[in-house]
Amino acid sequence: MRTRQGIGPSQKWDLIVIGGGIVGCSTAFYAARLGLRVLIVERDTPGSGQSGRNLGFVRQQGRDFRELPLAIAALRLWNDLEEDLGRKVGWLRGGNVVLAANDRETARQADWQSKAKDFGLDTILLTSAQTREKLPFLSDKASLCGAMFTASDGRAEPGRTTRAFFEAAVELGVSVILGAHVTQLELQAGNVHGVWVNDKLYRADRVLCSAGTGSGKLLRGVGYNLPQERIRATVARTLPAPGLTLTSCISLPFTGLRQDEKGAFIFSVAGGEYDVRFDSWRYLHHYRETRRANPDAARVNYFGPILRFMSSRIASPIADIAPSSEGARPAHYRVRQAQDELRQFVPQLAELAIEAVWAGVIDALPDVVPVMGHVYERPGLLLATGFSGHGFGLGPMAGKIMAGLAAGHSASVDISGLSPSRFSHLSVTARLASPAG
Ligand SMILES: Cc1cc2nc3c(=O)[nH]c(=O)nc-3n(C[C@H](O)[C@H](O)[C@H](O)COP(=O)(O)OP(=O)(O)OC[C@H]3O[C@@H](n4cnc5c(N)ncnc54)[C@H](O)[C@@H]3O)c2cc1C
Repeated sequence: MRTRQGIGPSQKWDLIVIGGGIVGCSTAFYAARLGLRVLIVERDTPGSGQSGRNLGFVRQQGRDFRELPLAIAALRLWNDLEEDLGRKVGWLRGGNVVLAANDRETARQADWQSKAKDFGLDTILLTSAQTREKLPFLSDKASLCGAMFTASDGRAEPGRTTRAFFEAAVELGVSVILGAHVTQLELQAGNVHGVWVNDKLYRADRVLCSAGTGSGKLLRGVGYNLPQERIRATVARTLPAPGLTLTSCISLPFTGLRQDEKGAFIFSVAGGEYDVRFDSWRYLHHYRETRRANPDAARVNYFGPILRFMSSRIASPIADIAPSSEGARPAHYRVRQAQDELRQFVPQLAELAIEAVWAGVIDALPDVVPVMGHVYERPGLLLATGFSGHGFGLGPMAGKIMAGLAAGHSASVDISGLSPSRFSHLSVTARLASPAG
C-alpha cells in the first residue's frame, strides 16, 4: 500500500472517494475546487479499471433519455476540459455516426432523433447517399439504409483523461491511497462514517462509492443491494495507418470504431462475455428482461471460475494500459468478429496489423443506466456507479455533480431517473446493522 505523506487514520476527511476511475477522480477534482478535503482510495492505480480501457467515445447520441441531460451537460464540459485541467486529453469534437443497415434500424433512429429534438440536440438523419459522402471509404458492397449523426459528439483518450483528472486533483491537495482495497464501509447509528482500508479506519461523514465492478460487494456490506453484474469486453488497436483519416466515432451494426491521435484505429464488437461465477445466481432474475431486450449484449461463459484463475497469470501487459488486479483476459474471437464486419464495411481497416488487444470489465445494471445520488437510507453515502458500458463520456459531468452533492448543493442537471432509490426496495434489511457494531 502506498500512501501520500501525512495521511493518517486519525485525520477526518470531508469526502472519501472509493475508486480512482474517471468518476472518482473527477469527483475528487471538483470537490477539492469546492474547498472539500478529499481522500481517494484506489485498489490499483488511477485508470486501471474501465476508465483506462474503454473505446473513448464521448457521445450524446442514442442515449437513454434518463441520462441524456447528463450527456448533454457532459459534452459542454468536455469542450473546455483541456483548458480547465491544464492537460491534454486527446479531445476531438469530430461527431458520432451510427449506421443503419436495415429499415428497422432506420425507424428506431428516426424515433430517437425526433424525441432528442426536445432536448435541443443537433442529431440528424442521413440518407444512404449522404452517409457515403460523409464516409467515402465505406465499401460499395456494404448494405446500408442511412445513418444517424451528431456533430457535437467527440472522442478522447481514456487513460490520459483519467490521469489528467487525478493529477489535477492531487495538485489541488487531494490525498490518495493507492494499491489498497476499501474492505468495508463504516456505519455509526446507521450513518456512514468512513471506510476500512485493511485494518485501518479512515473517517469521513460523506463517502462516494465509485468503485466500478467493486461497488456491489461494498454496498451489500451496508445493506444496499445493488444488482450489479460484470461483462468482460474486448478492444483491439491497430498499428498507425498514416494514409487514413477518420475524425468521427463510427458504429457499424456490431462494431464501434475510432482513430486515435497517433493514427491507429481502435475497435470493439458490441457486447462481451458474461463469466459465470459461484454467486451468479444472485441477480440472474433481474436480468431476464435486459437479456431479452439486448440478446447480443453478453455471451455466457461457463468457464468463468477457471478463467479467473488463469487470468492473473496470462493477461499480458500493454505499455499504455494500467494493469488491473482484475486481470481480465481479452476474447480474441471478438477481434475476429469485428474484422469480419470491417471487411464488409471498411475493407482497408480489416487488414491493418493489430498492435494490442485488451479487455475491461463493464459494471452493468439491469436497466442499463447508472445510479447517481444520495442513498437516503444510509445518510452520508453517495453513489455514482453502474455506468453500464457508457460512463467515460459522462464521467467528468458525473463527477462535477457528485462533488456538488457532497458539498451539500443540489444537482445542476436532472438526474432523477438515475436515483439509487430505484433499487432500494431490494435492500437486505437484515444486514442493516453496522458492520463495526
Ligand atoms: C471495453 C470497454 C469499452 C467502453 N467504451 C466506452 C466508450 O466508448 N464510451 C463511454 O462513454 N464508455 C465506455 N465504456 C464504459 C466506461 O469505461 C465506464 O462506464 C467508465 O469508465 C466507468 O468509470 P468508473 O470510474 O465508474 O469505473 P472504473 O473506471 O472501473 O473505476 C473504478 C475503480 O475502482 C477501483 N476499485 C474497485 N473496488 C475497489 C475497492 N474495494 N477499493 C478501492 N478501489 C476499488 C478499481 O480498481 C477501479 O480503478 C467502456 C467500457 C469498457 C470496459
